[in-house]
Amino acid sequence: MHTFKKGIHPPYNKDITKDSSIKEMPVKDVTIPLLQHIGKACEPVVKEGDYVKAAQLIGTLDKGMYANIFSSVSGFVKGIKNITTSNGQKCPHVVIENDYKDDKLLFLPLSEPTAEQILQRIKDAGIVGMGGAGFPAHIKLNPPKTKTIDTLIINGSECEPYITCDYRLMIEHTAEIAEGARLLGKVLNVKKIYIGIENNKPAAIKALSGYRDIEVVPLKTKYPQGAEKQLIYAITKRTVPLGKLPMEVGCVNDNVHTAYSIYHAVYSGIPCYERIVTISGSAADITGNFIIKTGTPLSYISEYCGMKEQPAKIIFGGPMMGASQFNMDVAVSKTTSSILFLTENEINNHLAGPCINCGRCARVCPMNLMPMFIDAYTLTGDFKNAKKYGADACIECGCCAYTCPTKRPLVQSIRLAKKIVREKKI
Ligand code: SF4
Ligand code: SF4
Repeated sequence: MHTFKKGIHPPYNKDITKDSSIKEMPVKDVTIPLLQHIGKACEPVVKEGDYVKAAQLIGTLDKGMYANIFSSVSGFVKGIKNITTSNGQKCPHVVIENDYKDDKLLFLPLSEPTAEQILQRIKDAGIVGMGGAGFPAHIKLNPPKTKTIDTLIINGSECEPYITCDYRLMIEHTAEIAEGARLLGKVLNVKKIYIGIENNKPAAIKALSGYRDIEVVPLKTKYPQGAEKQLIYAITKRTVPLGKLPMEVGCVNDNVHTAYSIYHAVYSGIPCYERIVTISGSAADITGNFIIKTGTPLSYISEYCGMKEQPAKIIFGGPMMGASQFNMDVAVSKTTSSILFLTENEINNHLAGPCINCGRCARVCPMNLMPMFIDAYTLTGDFKNAKKYGADACIECGCCAYTCPTKRPLVQSIRLAKKIVREKKI
């Protein structure tokens, strides 16, 4: 069975939503962040009082790393306010009062597009890596001419607990994902397209196995199977060198939702202004997989779903790598794969104890790091040695913290080391 070395087997808790077919969540007013990607926040191209249609451009930049931002409803712009995103970054948000007309300003669909036309459409439509990374897709798909890319890997592993949006997409929108993968393959001019899917999703493996030009690779169910470097190793046995990108070994990875969105940007003219989000966790009354417009506030979603009890924790993303939320004003973005309303029983609320040198964290680290040493050096402020022990290479998967018997907050510690090493250029 294809897999990577080390990793963990957390409880997957996917049964809560795996059989919930995709439904549309209605929306009221939206508060759309102008930063939904890795890079710089876009600048607004609308102002208070303007009327916008759904799918209309509302934020862009002239240059740099960015992805265009679109309105997800039609209505009047109520204002632009600087608030915090679900990732904790402050940026301008465009507030739009929904008039429920849902008039749309779409791109013209392309037929038989060239590689250049596809890439331009991906850029125009503001597509980003929708697995959670948010890397602007037009940049990833335009590697330097000196790099030869021969392999495209579509990531359908969905290894984070609770999340099932990609699973539902794979079984309900199989053909669009396959066609989206072909568009990506055309842009990159690759010889081989793989789709990696964990073997706890047999229906998705079966659905996508019917295409002769796309090879489905069943993967062992293990966390973090969908992490970029681990997925490349599992499928191709190529090892991406530390500090390098997949292009160094001739690969590009993209998530199934990204492939699906690219299909619709190219063939339906629809830019990226909504996505499938898994709503799960034992505190929520209504759970499932929903099409949610970007800019939909957490407060509205919480009210729509109804709470059986006060959630002990609300997370955007999965429980391993997602971000805890402390503000009900945060809004859904292009990278919000799930929103979890978790009870006390579903979270780790133990107090951290001292390291007992058991070595478990090192035994599960998929990057072969020794997290206990990085943590110890961070605690003493010795960031030179934290770097020496590979803080930079940490992918923040959380396997070490999950497995630590004394519940040391290893990821927070390593994240701090990475930040200081970067800021102080150590
Ligand atoms: S050190 Fe980083 S890469 Fe290794 S297990 Fe911990 S979070 Fe994951
Ligand atoms: S798992 Fe926890 S207690 Fe064990 S070595 Fe790592 S940090 Fe120390």
